Amino acid sequence: MLLSKDGDQTKIIAGGTALVIMLKNRLISPSVLLSLGGLNDLRYIRHQPGTGLRIGGLVTIREAETSSLLRDKQPTLAETFGKVGNVRVRNAATVGGNLSEADYASDPPSILVALRAKVKAYSVKGEREIPLAEFFQGFYETALAPDEILTELIVPDLNPGSRSIYLKYVSRSSEDRPCVGMAAVLETESDGSCKELRLVAGAVTETPQSFESAGAMACGKRLTDPLIEEIAEACSSGVEPFSDLRGSAWYRKQIIRVMARRAIQQAMAGQ
Ligand SMILES: Cc1cc2nc3c(=O)[nH]c(=O)nc-3n(C[C@H](O)[C@H](O)[C@H](O)COP(=O)(O)OP(=O)(O)OC[C@H]3O[C@@H](n4cnc5c(N)ncnc54)[C@H](O)[C@@H]3O)c2cc1C
Repeated sequence: MLLSKDGDQTKIIAGGTALVIMLKNRLISPSVLLSLGGLNDLRYIRHQPGTGLRIGGLVTIREAETSSLLRDKQPTLAETFGKVGNVRVRNAATVGGNLSEADYASDPPSILVALRAKVKAYSVKGEREIPLAEFFQGFYETALAPDEILTELIVPDLNPGSRSIYLKYVSRSSEDRPCVGMAAVLETESDGSCKELRLVAGAVTETPQSFESAGAMACGKRLTDPLIEEIAEACSSGVEPFSDLRGSAWYRKQIIRVMARRAIQQAMAGQ
């Protein structure tokens, strides 16, 4: 209700790990802070056959990382949550907060785009689903309207014969955000050829970068070493990364090539 009346001046606070830093640095100065802390109905992790995993927006990243259900159904996603910052951050930070912050260098977004996950957004006007591939719209910008709350993350089950992987490359401290994050979902046919390969990089452009044409090079083929090298090269040359404190654009291009190759190889090996 408060959000619908004064969405521009009211800021939601969940775990506060990102928001408090923004407040302290005077990057934002909302007149009202609306805490979601009391919404216990948004703290759940369930699995629904045909739909997949449903993760409430207020589940902490640590709860997601350690959930036996999540580890069973989507082990790569559980591991990815375990790669966020450090355990103190993960204990306070929420899944909904991580996605809504839309920092270009967050870990979960790229694997979630590769897994074709979506989120539920709720406002007094109703509820809608947004695929994560459309959710991230720019630096710290999402498809959420000012009066909407992210209530749920939905992660569909992988098809049989599919494997996923997320690799995080850090260039500074081990607890830092990624210089490059690389997610891969690989589906193979019974004869070992590739049915589908989805590669998505995080931390290189404003929003998760999907390498669709590079992935299409794998379709119907056996992933030999030379083909993997070609696909990795296509990923590297198919993106204009930016430069920041974690690495220059040139450096990121080299890392994208290496990470794409490793991600494909590790997905093939089922690691
Ligand atoms: C030291 C440190 C290290 C970090 N390292 C990493 C890292 O390695 N990888 C990584 O991915 N992230 C990293 N992070 C970022 C961290 O994951 C985010 O700060 C955190 O997930 C935000 O969640 P929160 O619940 O604390 O959100 P808050 O700080 O409460 O909110 C963040 C933003 O999202 C909005 N918001 C929150 N919840 C909702 C909701 N349900 N619906 C709509 N809007 C909402 C808020 O209004 C705010 O704009 C790090 C953070 C810190 C402080």
